[in-house]
Amino acid sequence: MTKIPFVDLSFQHEPLINQIEQAILTVLHQGDFIMGKAVAEFETAFANACGVEYGIGVACGTDAIALGLQACGIRPGDEVILPANTFVATLIGVLHAGATPIFVDCDPETALIDLKAAEKAISEQTRAIVPVHLYGQMVSPKQLRDLASAHNLIIFEDAAQAHLAEREGYKAASIGKAAAFSFYPSKNLGAIGDGGILVTNDAEVAQKMRSLRNYGAPQKYLHTEYGTNSRLDTLQAAVLNVKLPHLPEWNNLRNAAAQEYDRLLEPLRSHGIFPIHNQSGTGHIYHLYVIRINESCAIEREKIQAELSAVGIQTGIHYPLPCHLQPAYQYLGYKAGDFPNSEILSKQILSLPMYPGLSQTQIVQVVQALQHILIAPEAAISG
Ligand SMILES: *Cc1c(COP(=O)(O)O)cnc(C)c1O
Repeated sequence: MTKIPFVDLSFQHEPLINQIEQAILTVLHQGDFIMGKAVAEFETAFANACGVEYGIGVACGTDAIALGLQACGIRPGDEVILPANTFVATLIGVLHAGATPIFVDCDPETALIDLKAAEKAISEQTRAIVPVHLYGQMVSPKQLRDLASAHNLIIFEDAAQAHLAEREGYKAASIGKAAAFSFYPSKNLGAIGDGGILVTNDAEVAQKMRSLRNYGAPQKYLHTEYGTNSRLDTLQAAVLNVKLPHLPEWNNLRNAAAQEYDRLLEPLRSHGIFPIHNQSGTGHIYHLYVIRINESCAIEREKIQAELSAVGIQTGIHYPLPCHLQPAYQYLGYKAGDFPNSEILSKQILSLPMYPGLSQTQIVQVVQALQHILIAPEAAISG
């Protein structure tokens, strides 16, 4: 059997294993576990890589959003616009900042936030928009900046899936006031546990963020903000320092794999299989490679997923239930039918295996398996 995992981190970690071990041992010997030397090193290196001035490491991406929005001055009562089709952490970040989330729908071709819908959702209370660079493709920086300047909104990027992505000459994290990243292990740049960072060009935001992540204390035992404890572990930063220089090369490999999928999947369009549209060319860093199995496809998504799994090919769904329909957030007052594009996508999307190190042979195997299921369903069932 083929056995193609959804994500395989060994390609990234095996060649670096000695350096990673060394980095971990160094922290162990130094004993600077909290806010150690590696943290400051990584914050500077990562901010530089993004072309942004300041980086402030935190415990996870969710905190980077929650504390980052607060550092940008978002207060209870402020409305913050976000897409309905994002990972729930975007929503949790907005809620933890005390703001009122205002969902909008997405473009059905790119799965990115629909900025026309966002414009319609703006009210007197709207202070910020949180574009999510979903799957590794950036929301148009030009359109975002036009919208934000016309309505005096803060742009706060959720770049958790977009490390070093680019579009229209902008890098992810350089469009607006601040941006949040996650280093969850399977992200394009992943730690060996949880981690996150806020990056910004604004010195005041950076200073406030440093305080918020550290008990709201600008100096020891003086608490000027209602902060929390959310720091990037020195151990995680040490590992991230080893991995960061390889990120551009890993992103290129993802983009090349995606182009190969695009090319091989072309004949399956007539069977109702459409890759999510890439509008940003080589700047798309393909955190995920997502196809849409639309109404014209003879076989339903769950069946396709099960049959791929039966031949050893793991896939994912990002995400099967949009945020506005999640049980915990029904109190926000949204209902089914509010965001039709997000709702339809959630039922039709399928994420194929994608990681640096995914081979040409494996890509061919995935596409052939799909072809087999779609074009010869009888044969596929009987194996
Ligand atoms: C992963 C992710 C986050 C949250 O990151 P954590 O580090 O898991 O807290 C936020 N937004 C998006 C879009 C993500 O994919």
